[in-house]
Amino acid sequence: MSDDFDLVVIGAGSGGVAASRRAVAHGAKVAIVESSRVGGTCVIRGCVPKKLLMYAAQYGDAFREAAGYGWSVGHPHFEMARWAASKAAETQRLEHIYRQLLAGSKVELVEGRAVVDGPQRVRVGERVLNAKHILVATGGAPVRDSIPGIEHCPTSDELLDLHVLPPRAAIIGSGFIALEFASMLQRLGVQVSLFYRARLPLRGFDEDLRTRAAAALQAAGVTLHPGAAPREVQRAGGEWLLILDDERLLEFPFVLNATGRRPNTAGLGLERLGITLDAAGAVQVDARLRTSAEGVHAIGDVTNRWNLTPVAIAEGRALADSLFGPSPREVDLSLVCAAVFTLPPLATIGPTEADALAAGHKLKVYEADFRPMRQAFIDGAERCYMKLLVDAASDMVLAVHMLGADAPEIVQSLAVALSAGATKAQFDRTIAVHPTAAEEFVLMREPSRVVG
Ligand SMILES: Cc1cc2nc3c(=O)[nH]c(=O)nc-3n(C[C@H](O)[C@H](O)[C@H](O)COP(=O)(O)OP(=O)(O)OC[C@H]3O[C@@H](n4cnc5c(N)ncnc54)[C@H](O)[C@@H]3O)c2cc1C
Repeated sequence: MSDDFDLVVIGAGSGGVAASRRAVAHGAKVAIVESSRVGGTCVIRGCVPKKLLMYAAQYGDAFREAAGYGWSVGHPHFEMARWAASKAAETQRLEHIYRQLLAGSKVELVEGRAVVDGPQRVRVGERVLNAKHILVATGGAPVRDSIPGIEHCPTSDELLDLHVLPPRAAIIGSGFIALEFASMLQRLGVQVSLFYRARLPLRGFDEDLRTRAAAALQAAGVTLHPGAAPREVQRAGGEWLLILDDERLLEFPFVLNATGRRPNTAGLGLERLGITLDAAGAVQVDARLRTSAEGVHAIGDVTNRWNLTPVAIAEGRALADSLFGPSPREVDLSLVCAAVFTLPPLATIGPTEADALAAGHKLKVYEADFRPMRQAFIDGAERCYMKLLVDAASDMVLAVHMLGADAPEIVQSLAVALSAGATKAQFDRTIAVHPTAAEEFVLMREPSRVVG
């Protein structure tokens, strides 16, 4: 077994696996190093198990709503241990598939912790891998030092491995992970309190989605504590104690640390090569995913830009094409779709209204805010909100924002139209599919406001 490679990838997550397989397809000799389970965050402790828990939580609503549709359902009861056993089997199955994909593509999997040992050299234990190119695809991990005492609190990693759910939980944070778990746990029978510093959760999303996401959590029974980030967490006799800025002390049997994630660069040896990291430890790259050291590249969450699986995969493939394919190419990140899998979920593509205005656009804002048919029939409270931002000068649809059932599925399809530069007139010419919620997007006739 030779230790000379065209490419050594550090991290067998979404981005690293995609890059290594594409590089081999171009004829490169590739090794991939993984210190934990193959598949990375998305498959083992992120998107996949999270969505499987969301499906479980959805039944909480479905059982309740079924009565309105004529069903008698008895007394449903959720057992986390049964879900956990099925989840473990599913992640094992997926990990096995990833391992087979790597073996089938003749990527050499090296198990252990990688350290960049010098230019073109990666060390894994005693073994030294010589690499024409090094790809850093080490992802990120939960921040465990944001508040004194929080280092002992469970994060999303540990929560997804629980076998028994607590009766009550405090969640600290207001990013997508905090909101998704608040929404899910509440439906699985946990009384959730959400603590965050800002006025609204989901910084970076459109204000109209943020206000509605907060309202939807509240409607589901989550207690919101905006402007109330704990300044310390203590362990007291089997309970967790939150100490708030205003000196209030609150006791919880469980506290979820959802205060953010940090790139995995500590101890990787990148400083040795003079590679530039930002204050959070993220690897700085240019549009071609090159770091400041010749022959060292980085993709995905370790660069802390768009921390999303499809972006890591797209970057991995583009980098392999650029290094070993016929011509270099860049990933177009000007329009990235993102979703938050709360119940109901939200999804978005394009700038927020505030950002579009700040960029100088005059906007026609089209909105629909209604109770979907499925909810109206059972007199349910859940609503659906849709928003199109249209550039008044060119008629181009700049952004789609939605909160409501199936928002991620609907916005994913509209993303194709936006990527193709669709105008509002083209949306208007589209014949609706009826009866759907999505048809509202092609039936919005009058702007609710013109701004900018
Ligand atoms: C709870 C949660 C939910 C999420 N939900 C979504 C979602 O719904 N949609 C979405 O698009 N994204 C979601 N994400 C984000 C998504 O998981 C990441 O964007 C994606 O996994 C990034 O891929 P990556 O290849 O950059 O890194 P990762 O998938 O994190 O892979 C990095 C790998 O590198 C390994 N590694 C680290 N250091 C070393 C080392 N020194 N040596 C060897 N190996 C090393 C790690 O063990 C890991 O396997 C979620 C994340 C979390 C935590």
